Amino acid sequence: MSSQPLNVNEDEIAKFEQVASQWWDLTGDFKPLHQINPLRVQFISQHIALQVEGVDSKNSFYDMQMIDVGCGGGILSESLAKLGANVTGIDMGTEPLNVAKLHALETGVSINYQKITAEEKALENPGTFDVVTCMEMLEHVPDPASVIQACSTLVKPGGLIFFSTLNKSIKSYLLAILAAEKLLKIVPDGTHDHDKFIRPSQLIGWAEEHGLKCIDASGIHYNPITGNHKLNDSLDVNYILCCRKL
Ligand code: SAH
Repeated sequence: MSSQPLNVNEDEIAKFEQVASQWWDLTGDFKPLHQINPLRVQFISQHIALQVEGVDSKNSFYDMQMIDVGCGGGILSESLAKLGANVTGIDMGTEPLNVAKLHALETGVSINYQKITAEEKALENPGTFDVVTCMEMLEHVPDPASVIQACSTLVKPGGLIFFSTLNKSIKSYLLAILAAEKLLKIVPDGTHDHDKFIRPSQLIGWAEEHGLKCIDASGIHYNPITGNHKLNDSLDVNYILCCRKL
């Protein structure tokens, strides 16, 4: 165990603990995550089929070792496990992990959920995973670059890491905070802090500093009013990156 202070913002964790019971309510606070999840899976599947030897395009992750960092209630972890991956899901929220464990039992998928930081997990299991996913988590930690470094340590050489987060733009303030939190109340007020949003250039810079090469980026467009969602070329609000470990 490291003597460094944990890269965890307890206030952020508390927000997710409070609403964890809603995690699998398709109409609740996590509705946007449920709606964009198929797009994330599509992006991840496409890149795995293209980049990882022996995986065809039939969406099968059979026997691959994957870790979902900041997995919450397990929306993405379950999708990856259903496609055949051996999935570890890590988070620092106790309630989100309890919900994730219970839901996996109900669904009949086997996932190894653990309460541990990415940094501690990287010390325990360096170079272990074929794929690392870290979705909508970096904007909630004190030091996102440290999580990126940990993800880079966790993945095998040549493996893939997927990051998604919110860009620091005026449009992301208008859509993700003003519209989604304050006006339409689709997600709880205070879920996001615009100062913690991350420009793609910044994220790619951190990734490169830690031995990763960004090989693709896509916007995840989500309209909080209509619920319409699609992958597109505009990274101005929500976006997802695919990086390869050199
Ligand atoms: N990745 C999931 C959940 C996103 S919500 C998805 O996209 O479906 C953000 C999650 O990050 C919450 O579950 C929260 O508990 C977790 N989190 C925040 N800070 C963390 C930290 N320092 N270490 C691990 N998990 C963290």
